[in-house]
Amino acid sequence: MSTNADDDQNADDTHDTRDSDEPLLELEDVSVEFKDPTLVEQAFPQSLLDRFDLYEEPVQALDDVSLEIGEEDVVVLVGESGSGKSTLGRTAIGIEEPTAGTVRYEGYDLQELQREEHADEILSQDARRALQIVHQDPSAALNPYRTVRSTLSQPLKLWYPELDVGDRRERIRRMLEKTGITPAEEYMERYPYQLSGGEKQRIAIIRSVLVEPDLILADEVVSALDVSLRVDVMDLLLELREMFGTAFLFVSHNLTNARYFAGKADGRIAVMYFGKIVEMGPAEEVLQNPKHPYTETLKWASLPLDPNECEETIRDESPMMSKEQPDPSDLPEGCRFQASCPKARGVCQRSDPELVSEDGSDDHTAACFRELPDHEYWSDEPIHEAEPDILQ
Ligand code: SF4
Repeated sequence: MSTNADDDQNADDTHDTRDSDEPLLELEDVSVEFKDPTLVEQAFPQSLLDRFDLYEEPVQALDDVSLEIGEEDVVVLVGESGSGKSTLGRTAIGIEEPTAGTVRYEGYDLQELQREEHADEILSQDARRALQIVHQDPSAALNPYRTVRSTLSQPLKLWYPELDVGDRRERIRRMLEKTGITPAEEYMERYPYQLSGGEKQRIAIIRSVLVEPDLILADEVVSALDVSLRVDVMDLLLELREMFGTAFLFVSHNLTNARYFAGKADGRIAVMYFGKIVEMGPAEEVLQNPKHPYTETLKWASLPLDPNECEETIRDESPMMSKEQPDPSDLPEGCRFQASCPKARGVCQRSDPELVSEDGSDDHTAACFRELPDHEYWSDEPIHEAEPDILQ
């Protein structure tokens, strides 16, 4: 990764032997199945847990997902609660272990790298430093008994032991000033209870950025904030990306936030539905020209970022046939969006579509048979009686 730090021996020195053609992160056919009820409860909303009694059965949270992320790339994972977006993010940075498939960091198997006994300890440590996370709830992420200086000193002590107390203090002061937390000297001595929600999230973000990671998983980082603060925090992340060249996996259930973040970073949006990526492409392409009927639904349900525009938003009829969601522990054969999809035909109940594009390129893909002009889908019978007007 690029860095503007001038006083440290950063871990880039360990990258010399790596193949620069490798993507920063590569997920290949990755699946994750949760057997532990606690993990199932974290991955799925209460409504699905109760309706399908998901506490007993193993549940597929991620199903055969492939994704490449390059240096300085921005990929926004968007979808409803339970779609697998956080599980995908956590698996990508090594917090969750795939049940099947492989995650590679710069060509190396991430799970192998993270094993304590890995032969190359420097490389192994570098992978841990290089992949960081910012959580949704900054209050839970910050120790209430530590000052800002103490909180921010921890990762520096861990990853840059050569820095003395003065170096650490100076680095923290500079970062606070760069991110608008001023007067920095005063903020350094504050405790979390003396910070606003937006300031806490900024400190949590700074803590991740201080170790100069290659990629940050920003997991619903603005969803707990007031609408007025969301843009500020997203702008901060984008500024830090400019400064440090950090790649981002930005997870959001909100398409409006996804559009803002991916659009400003010239990044991609990956739309997720029940453990699969169902559409992926450049942000504006996906939003202006959605190819998957589920993306249409998300677009229909999203509100403008500016609350003043909400009242002016006129809603057509929902583009979904029904709000019926599949049972994550017993997913249907075929396309998992079939029950709600106004375009579903017979083949959608028999075969599971893969991510494809009409022109065969990888730029903008959708997991829908309608992308393929010669597919048997077109000669099959619709499975629902009528389509809502909006999609006809
Ligand atoms: S494959 Fe069929 S059910 Fe799935 S999104 Fe496309 S048309 Fe709808």
